[in-house]
Amino acid sequence: MRLEDDSVTPAELIARKRDGHTLTRDEIAFVIRGFVDSSIPEYQMSALAMAIFFQGMEDEETAALTQEMLLSGVRLEWPAGAAVVDKHSTGGVGDKVSLVLAPLLASCGLRVPMISGRGLGPTGGTLDKLESIPGFRTDLSITEMQAIVERVGCVITGATEDLVPADRKFYGLRDVTATVPSIPLITASIMSKKLAESLNALVLDVKCGSGAFMKTRDQGVELANSLVRAGQRMGVRTTALVTDMNQPLGRMCGNAVELDETLDCLAGEGPDDLRYVTLALGAELLVSAERCADPTAAESLLSDRLDSGAAREVFEQMVVAQGGDLKIGYQVAREQVVVAERSGFVTRMDTEALGMAVIDLGGGRRQIGDSVDHSVGIDMRAKIGDEVSAGDPLARVFADQKVPAIMSRVSGAITISDSQGEWPEFIVERIR
Ligand code: URA
Repeated sequence: MRLEDDSVTPAELIARKRDGHTLTRDEIAFVIRGFVDSSIPEYQMSALAMAIFFQGMEDEETAALTQEMLLSGVRLEWPAGAAVVDKHSTGGVGDKVSLVLAPLLASCGLRVPMISGRGLGPTGGTLDKLESIPGFRTDLSITEMQAIVERVGCVITGATEDLVPADRKFYGLRDVTATVPSIPLITASIMSKKLAESLNALVLDVKCGSGAFMKTRDQGVELANSLVRAGQRMGVRTTALVTDMNQPLGRMCGNAVELDETLDCLAGEGPDDLRYVTLALGAELLVSAERCADPTAAESLLSDRLDSGAAREVFEQMVVAQGGDLKIGYQVAREQVVVAERSGFVTRMDTEALGMAVIDLGGGRRQIGDSVDHSVGIDMRAKIGDEVSAGDPLARVFADQKVPAIMSRVSGAITISDSQGEWPEFIVERIR
């Protein structure tokens, strides 16, 4: 296959990228369309992904790639004048912000069509957490999604086959060719899916630290800048917060246990870090959507909606609209306590190891298609900066069987030192 004007073949185009040239919008359109209709084979697309991995992309190339992937599928549609917003997280251990934020923003009058994913690897998945609720459906059609957003204000569901098929196909290929960790490819993948929701405003929560995909602050800031630039180029008001993932967010890690913590937060209770990060992300959207003049006014509105129970009411309506029944209750496994072996201060956590411990309990997936046990998890009784005495509980592990190896891995993932060290900042950087 050649470009329409007969100027370049896929092999020549791969060679151009390999040698550091900038691809044109037409060349990127040619390659994505050819890949989706299978006229460009996977081996050529893999070679191109590797060339991009090593050479990177200019902003205009990333924007063209995002746009072409977006055009490969359908887009959601909203009535004129609707303020439609969403948040995307790059994923972290204990990250249940979406579950609180979607109904919270809907309780402020915004529409939130949140298309989310399942957990793969150490970071949990929003859909898995919601599926702890008996009957909760995460396989809604586009028509159902749009109808629930119109009625309730928010929806949290999985992607349908017809939303950005280019990303589904390309991500599968990147996964098996070691080309996932490329900033322009991640940017196009995330932004094409979010832009298919036809948003007015988007906030990105880019996690960095031991439990995140991006291990360092610099990597997090680089990805956040790339995502924000792509969103702005595509005409969506986009901002980002780079947030700390050197320990789990909140205390609970797992599925049903994270849902418990979500309900606490929606009742105006729950851990401070979860509430703080949720309010900060929500404030970005209320300001971007021109509902509040500044972040301080926005955070005060959001606090009020949490404390008054308004956000919890929307959450309950969303659960019913998606077929779930909170009254039936959901199961949490038996608790087993991990205690501190010495006295001192918690100074470090291997958060990825904690996420992997949840997977080993059965609460997450090593491979697509693995089944998930919603009842297992971990409750971090101690967080960084806390003082503990020998014998104090460090964590509760929820599992119905005895799991000595996992208990000792959880203990080994928590460093206790003689001096207190630094308290972590919840928000590392704001990019507007
Ligand atoms: N998440 C995505 O959706 N895409 C990527 O490429 C990486 C993380």
